[in-house]
Amino acid sequence: MTGRTDGRERPRRVEPPASFVETANVTSEVREAFEREGHEAWRRAADLLEWSSPHETVLDREAESLTWFAGGQLNAAYNCVDRHLAERKNSVAIRWEGADGETRVYTYLDLYNEVNAAAAALRGLGVGEDDVVTLFMPGIPELPITMLACARLGALHNVVFAGYSADELRARLERTGSGYLVTCDGYYRRGSAVNQKNKADNARTSVEHPVETVVVPRLDDPYLSEGQHDYEDLVDAHAGDRVDPVERAAEDPLFVTYTSGTTGEPDRVTHTTGGYLSHVAWTSHAVLDIEPRDTYWCAADVAWITGHSYIVYGPLALGATTMLYEGAPDDPERDRVWELVDRNRVDVFYTASTAVRSFMKHGAEHPSAHDLSSLRLLGSVGEPMDARAWEWYYESVGGEECAVVDTWWQTETGGILVSTLPGVDRAKPGSAGPAIPGVEVDVVDAGGESVARGEPGHLAVTAPWPGMHRGLTEAAAAEGEDWAYVTSDRAILDHEGYVTFLGREDDTVTVGDTDYGPATIERVVLEVEGVAEAAVVESHQEGGRAVVYVCTERGVEGDAALTERIDHHVAERLGEDTQFARIVVAPDLPKTHSGKIMRRLLSAVADGESYGDTSALRNPEAVGELETVSGDGD
Ligand code: ATP
Ligand code: MG
Repeated sequence: MTGRTDGRERPRRVEPPASFVETANVTSEVREAFEREGHEAWRRAADLLEWSSPHETVLDREAESLTWFAGGQLNAAYNCVDRHLAERKNSVAIRWEGADGETRVYTYLDLYNEVNAAAAALRGLGVGEDDVVTLFMPGIPELPITMLACARLGALHNVVFAGYSADELRARLERTGSGYLVTCDGYYRRGSAVNQKNKADNARTSVEHPVETVVVPRLDDPYLSEGQHDYEDLVDAHAGDRVDPVERAAEDPLFVTYTSGTTGEPDRVTHTTGGYLSHVAWTSHAVLDIEPRDTYWCAADVAWITGHSYIVYGPLALGATTMLYEGAPDDPERDRVWELVDRNRVDVFYTASTAVRSFMKHGAEHPSAHDLSSLRLLGSVGEPMDARAWEWYYESVGGEECAVVDTWWQTETGGILVSTLPGVDRAKPGSAGPAIPGVEVDVVDAGGESVARGEPGHLAVTAPWPGMHRGLTEAAAAEGEDWAYVTSDRAILDHEGYVTFLGREDDTVTVGDTDYGPATIERVVLEVEGVAEAAVVESHQEGGRAVVYVCTERGVEGDAALTERIDHHVAERLGEDTQFARIVVAPDLPKTHSGKIMRRLLSAVADGESYGDTSALRNPEAVGELETVSGDGD
């Protein structure tokens, strides 16, 4: 197999495909410009937008709170919709694929009309500048439309993942003091209708303050409780209305959101209008290489930051066609994703690395049954991507003719910070890449001191970037030039400045005398032919030894021969002391709604402890399946 990063060998390097380099949005000149100009170079990001007043400074570190593009004024909805009308009013802005097979297409002119009507309707209910509007809907067009309607009014949206419980919705309504809720009657999931409004009603009635509620009739069977409004009636009543985009200062908030809650309670994060929008437009342009004529598909849920930045704001700010998909990637068939790419002639595709490994598990015959020649760039996010998954994505989906980028970032960072520049940098499968131009990173120890290149530590971002969330800007201003944002991700920085992610600090696994990031061991397990997914956790019951959970590729037996091969390979690669307490072969691994493996839950299962609520899981049934296999283990 090509491209294994063996540790003892030089990792494979992959040059950007020549056809890609020819048309890439950015060249090495961009990196040189950032090196030459320092933070001033970020004006390139702001220049992708249209400002009603230009900024006075790119970065103001003197103020109490650090400010990007101070003095600048803009409106995010104007930038994502209105300004494209002159040239692109008949181009498709949103191409929607519903879970039930329904499709809808919105041109930029349609989107302009819809956003204006929705903004007029919300204003009619009393929504004003800086109010928080909570949106509780799946991936239906009304979600980005109401997000943009809020942005038009200078109101903040607070999108709550549609699969969350009434209690989670209640907590977010309360914590944000949100007096407005837009939800839907229900939606389709794997062929059945799911009721959403009961959850919304239960949440609303348990919140102390009044919540003005609008219901989108997705199932066409709306029943309204007293005082509630039907979305279509409201919008119809405001059809043709025009709402002037409200001018916002660059540092004014655009929205609030929450982290995914993979390692604990989700944290609330507020993003700015000017810095955030510049950052996501810039990275959509420079890293995802999106061009206005592209059909681009990010297969995330709009509710997570990935959906905010790279389904809604980034691609629409650039005037591209963004695809929105309501359903599951393998429903009704395992080739659903490839069928959608084929039928819609998708140019750029962005998904979670865990999704890539699931596709690998299902087999290459699914992508190869479709014409994927429209694809130019493939992106990955969410968890470390091992070399084999990278190679599989590159070969089986990209036909070795697409650029592949592994992008690292967080809810807190607003947009991508670490990734190769697809038309410039060589990829090293298994390593995400260098910090993007203008971003500075380091790997530090627990005391915040730099560790030697090649040694593991915490990834720190050592200079401000435009997409930083508002909680970071005050600390950055107070601490001056020494400020650094130390993340809880473990990583290694190599001699070329490439970052290899090892996993989250909370998931550290001790094997023998060595503390490993889970990804360090998982990468080695994933090198074994036939292993599609792997998660390594520590078991207290096993005296702190590691338990590994694996899923096999289609057609591969999860038998004793496989577990022997894993043991043997790991001992050979990491030393004889590296022995697992157990190897569990499972049909699936428990993943959060945003596609991250929930290792803390696996560790509870390994120890036979209670793991509580599984509502944060996309596939709660995976846990039951695990218990059966674990119980049968040795
Ligand atoms: P919480 O902070 O609530 O536990 P979360 O960290 O999962 O949730 P997100 O902000 O959605 O919430 O995810 C960011 C995290 O995802 C990063 O800190 C990192 O652990 C992981 N991540 C994202 N992209 C990559 C990548 N390309 N390589 C490695 N890890 C990644
Ligand atoms: Mg986090």
